Amino acid sequence: MTLLLAFPTAVRDCKNLVGGAWRPAAHGASLDVESPYDGRVIGKVGLSDAGDVASVVDAAKRAFASWAATPVKERVGPLRRFHELVTLHAPDLANTVALESGKTPAEALAGIQRGLEVVDFALSLPNLDDGAALQVSRGVTCEARREPLGVVAGITPFNFPAMVPMWMFPIALTLGNAFVLKPSEKVPLAACRIGELMTEAGYAPGLFSIVHGDRTAVKALVDHPDVRAVAFVGSTPVARAVYTRATSLGKRALCLGGAKNHLIVAPDADEALTVRGVVDSFTGCAGQRCMAGSVMVVVGNASRFVAPIVEAASKIALGQGMGALIDAAAKDRLDRAIATASSEGADVVLDGRKVRPPREYQSGHWLGPTVLDHVRPEMECARAELFGPVLTVVRVDSLDEALALDRTTPYGNATSIFTSSGAAARY
Ligand code: NAD
Repeated sequence: MTLLLAFPTAVRDCKNLVGGAWRPAAHGASLDVESPYDGRVIGKVGLSDAGDVASVVDAAKRAFASWAATPVKERVGPLRRFHELVTLHAPDLANTVALESGKTPAEALAGIQRGLEVVDFALSLPNLDDGAALQVSRGVTCEARREPLGVVAGITPFNFPAMVPMWMFPIALTLGNAFVLKPSEKVPLAACRIGELMTEAGYAPGLFSIVHGDRTAVKALVDHPDVRAVAFVGSTPVARAVYTRATSLGKRALCLGGAKNHLIVAPDADEALTVRGVVDSFTGCAGQRCMAGSVMVVVGNASRFVAPIVEAASKIALGQGMGALIDAAAKDRLDRAIATASSEGADVVLDGRKVRPPREYQSGHWLGPTVLDHVRPEMECARAELFGPVLTVVRVDSLDEALALDRTTPYGNATSIFTSSGAAARY
């Protein structure tokens, strides 16, 4: 399916979804939502305070009791309808995701499809969540079963406006909880559209709620005594702060942070596969993916792959082949990171700062694919999460050296190896 970006004719006013009704944040402060493509204002979002959060959580708590008493086989009814609605409206939802996050429409659609995989999983929970019975002693049997907690909250990042919320609420709701979403204030439009589809799918008012805002709303949500569990996805410092606060209050917390993914390339790697894999990995979603390749560690004469990788990446056209950075702050941060790498001695063998987007997107936030070669492990670009289309190349002599380097990073999420050897891959 070929998708083309379509800009809206009106600015969307993103309100909170409270007990099934759309209401503005009470204290009135709001932010403009700009499209990373060209900086135009596509929405407005309210910044909720503790009072707004309390209204949302109260409505969610009222909805919880009868939902928790509903058998799980019935709870999946509205989720099945939600799946149908998202499938039906996927191109339109993808357009919204692309407009507000800077992804290409195809990348946005792929994220929605991955989100639907979690909906599929949640739909299977009536068969999977059957508890257990353990005979713990002679004549004593323990029955284990899952009980819903109550109101649970999800706090999500800008880079997957539909997919990451869909990692959370299908499962939380199916297991009988009421769910409050606090989307990133940079991408509130897709969350609103999901709220509309959840309402249309038939969830009772208050079961799925949205509270927009920034750190003030996050703090109020995490501290609210009726929020029993918190899921967070975002940067490591905020993940750590949310986890520390939530668990200190005795709440369950699952907090996923940033990444510095290493791609190890062995001398026996297949060239075509390696070039395509590495380029897709560091340029997909303009590198704003927690699974994006960031450091390519070339072992021995695998350094011969650097030139074809640079050549392939240099052919990617901004706008069509690769999307935009989320905002001006991201562009400044990446420009500075490239300048720092250069001053520390890295070779900027492909400089995305020189690549221009199409004329109609000149006022957006763009950086072309960038490759920094001859990077030493102690340089900032080899250590920090850059979160942009920048590949850092470190040259080493052995696989053991490559693995040792990978282990020095305090970040997740993934390490990949390009090799023709099954033994090397397993090792
Ligand atoms: P972010 O940490 O800036 O924001 C995430 C959420 O936290 C947003 O809802 C935001 O409003 C809120 N927030 C921001 N600052 C806060 C503060 N000081 N106190 C309380 N709440 C705050 O992250 P981002 O820039 O939106 O997303 C990019 C980051 O997310 C990257 O680090 C990326 O690696 C990470 N990420 C990780 C995964 C994963 O699965 N591990 C998935 C996607 C993104």
